[in-house]
Amino acid sequence: MNTSSITLPVTPYTRFRTTLDQTIERLGLCSEEIAFLSQPQHVHRCELTLVKDDGSEAIFPAFRVQFNNARGPYKGGIRFHPDANEEEVKALAALMGIKTALADIPFGGAKGGVQCDPKKLTRRELEELSRAYVRAFINILGPYRDCAAPDVNTNPDIMAWMRDEYERKQDVYAPGFITGKPLSYGGIPGRDTATARGGFFILEELVNFSALNPTELRVVIQGFGNAGAHMALFLHRAGYNVVAVSDSQGGIYSPDGIDPFRIQKYKKHTGSVTGEYCKGSVCDIEKMKLDHVQRVTNEELLELPCDILIPAALDNVITEENAARIEAKYVLELANGPTTPEADALLDVRGVMVIPDVLANAGGVVVSYFEWAQGRSGRQWTTEQVKEDLRRIMLAAFTAVRHEAQRHRISYRQAAFSVGVQRMLETMRKRGWV
Ligand code: GLU
Repeated sequence: MNTSSITLPVTPYTRFRTTLDQTIERLGLCSEEIAFLSQPQHVHRCELTLVKDDGSEAIFPAFRVQFNNARGPYKGGIRFHPDANEEEVKALAALMGIKTALADIPFGGAKGGVQCDPKKLTRRELEELSRAYVRAFINILGPYRDCAAPDVNTNPDIMAWMRDEYERKQDVYAPGFITGKPLSYGGIPGRDTATARGGFFILEELVNFSALNPTELRVVIQGFGNAGAHMALFLHRAGYNVVAVSDSQGGIYSPDGIDPFRIQKYKKHTGSVTGEYCKGSVCDIEKMKLDHVQRVTNEELLELPCDILIPAALDNVITEENAARIEAKYVLELANGPTTPEADALLDVRGVMVIPDVLANAGGVVVSYFEWAQGRSGRQWTTEQVKEDLRRIMLAAFTAVRHEAQRHRISYRQAAFSVGVQRMLETMRKRGWV
């Protein structure tokens, strides 16, 4: 049998291991260090029972993986998704460890997940499931033990229910239990835009030192959720030419540039970025001609002529199959894991600069850190303070990565891992763990 034609699925953990193994080899680490970096300290799993509105019972597998707490309490979001599983949560927890070390904030790495489809739950059921998660893991969570946050399909309302459940059960006041909370219940201004803003600061810096002119740069963004939509608005305001955006139903492209503020309105009214022009597969061609826009699929969108490509939705979208056709010179990964290791290598050879997820989307956890600190001190942060400190931290991380990449002639992804891993090891050595 010819096994070479079988392509194994790229799982988040294989993606993480590929980069980690390159880092381990380059840094010449010992087996004890390797074990710490590649295996989680704790994997917690359970089944949550939910009494649905119709009285029936449903069971949902739930996970919390605590990868490494050398540098501080475990930190990372909780995702609600039908495909959430232990392997994925483990890899995402490992990435959080690299991300927090790279941003140089005093946290370790963790991630949680509930295997469920939140779109099929009523609001009451969603609240009950969120509270059940906290009850199930109450002994391993806490402001100084493991601080959770939003991730895919979880939001400030869910964070509020979770904090409330913890405070009731423990009979304590604990704003630092979780981050990404609503402003009226311990939240911080700018947490909702933090991921996009962090990525935007990096892009701005990249454009500055490359002596490029934003008004001459064409940007394509995949995904119009929280990160993608805010990024489109920031870029448009700063004079960049956003030429295409998409959501799960497809995208629209205009070489002349599109106005993300208008797209946001369309999406609000019709549920989709293409909704103003298309109902299902039927599009108003005349209206599209008039507005100089074309409809594109999510696959086509990635290959459009542009300078900067921002995957801000799914993982594994830039693959061995399409990497050669990516026209962008820069890829900024706002999503977690959009590029497979094979595609990474192909883009590297072609001189496409990839700003990796652990750097590009770290803005979320950085502002979570401010929110956690706010909870500890009781002093409310202002929008301006959040922006200023976020900028400083993102640029420091970017500079560290850029220097490491230049010094060792390695990709930004490898450099980001290298910086993160070395910081984790430094603390582990100080603590006498390795
Ligand atoms: N879920 C976000 C991430 O993947 C934020 C995590 C946090 O704020 O703790 O980075």
